[in-house]
Amino acid sequence: MRGFCMQSTVWFTDLSAPPGKSLLDKTGDLLRAAGLPEKIGAGDLTAVKLHFGEKGNTAFIRPIFVRKVVEEIAAAGGKPFLTDTNTLYLGGRCNAVDHLRTAITNGFAYAVADAPIVVADGLRGESALRVPVKGKIFREVSLGAEIVNADAMVVLTHFKGHELSGFGGAIKNLGMGCASRAGKLAQHSSVSPFVDPAACIGCGTCVAHCPSGAIAVVTEKALIDPKTCIGCADCIVVCPEHAVKIEWNEAGPAVQEKMAEHALGVLEGKRGSILFLTFVTQVSPFCDCYGNSDRPISPDVGILASDDPVAIDQACADLVIRASGSDPFRKTHPSIDWTVQLSHGEALGLGCRKYELAAL
Ligand code: SF4
Ligand code: SF4
Repeated sequence: MRGFCMQSTVWFTDLSAPPGKSLLDKTGDLLRAAGLPEKIGAGDLTAVKLHFGEKGNTAFIRPIFVRKVVEEIAAAGGKPFLTDTNTLYLGGRCNAVDHLRTAITNGFAYAVADAPIVVADGLRGESALRVPVKGKIFREVSLGAEIVNADAMVVLTHFKGHELSGFGGAIKNLGMGCASRAGKLAQHSSVSPFVDPAACIGCGTCVAHCPSGAIAVVTEKALIDPKTCIGCADCIVVCPEHAVKIEWNEAGPAVQEKMAEHALGVLEGKRGSILFLTFVTQVSPFCDCYGNSDRPISPDVGILASDDPVAIDQACADLVIRASGSDPFRKTHPSIDWTVQLSHGEALGLGCRKYELAAL
């Protein structure tokens, strides 16, 4: 583990937009000031990592801002594509077909965003690559393959509250958002999935899909052998009865540390060709995976850019606290110490908590 860092630059613009200078113009200025053209090589397949929002959610980043990012990447010579990974839970984004339909419903059609969507971990989340990391907990992490394969990356983050990490920012978007289903399971749970016998009809679909032969149907009910299970999480999505359950037992500091270590896995392959753009607007109390967006817990603050995920998250949190007059994340999630993701990220060499705010 590394632990030394100096100071990073975080670029910032508030939401003032006088005539002749729109927020879209300011977003372009921010990306260029933060060095986007230098991070994209000619012809680079450039992942624009974002969260398309669950169906019913309204707080995610507006597609017209995403189009602006796409234009800037194309102007720098890159070939942008929009991407996210399938969810671990069963919802509107747990396979590529539902995911694309949800994204388009929420406004991310090609005609709007001007870039295709590629779901990074494939049809059912089976397209994953394991990459080495030097973490406290992990020696390798499982990530969506097309995120690993991309030449460059712009990480678009909606900064908001989160029930597991206090807030969800760039580190979470990288660590949880780029993880394969197996990677997400490894962050959320320390044990194998289990079968609810009341819901199981003994159809054997999970047995056929399990890559490690860990499931057997015994007296018409599936049973998972935790010693053989490799934690791929395939059985969770293939079960037609939603009978395979997750023990969501990982919480507190451990989930944030695991998240930061997965974030490191993404960053290591992209150093010098990755940029973070974070919108501190409509700061909802919970993550955009919910099918609703409750009343914001902070005033709108602005838009930030940096090549350091730790610094940008620290700056966002500081600005929210300053604008709110107190810490709305601690107030909303009192049992969560959100600094863990930052301090562990810094210890890993993911970035620096110390930053200089450069206002445009
Ligand atoms: S998580 Fe993967 S390895 Fe474990 S039982 Fe389910 S399908 Fe098999
Ligand atoms: S796929 Fe679901 S319902 Fe079918 S055997 Fe497996 S757990 Fe039971």
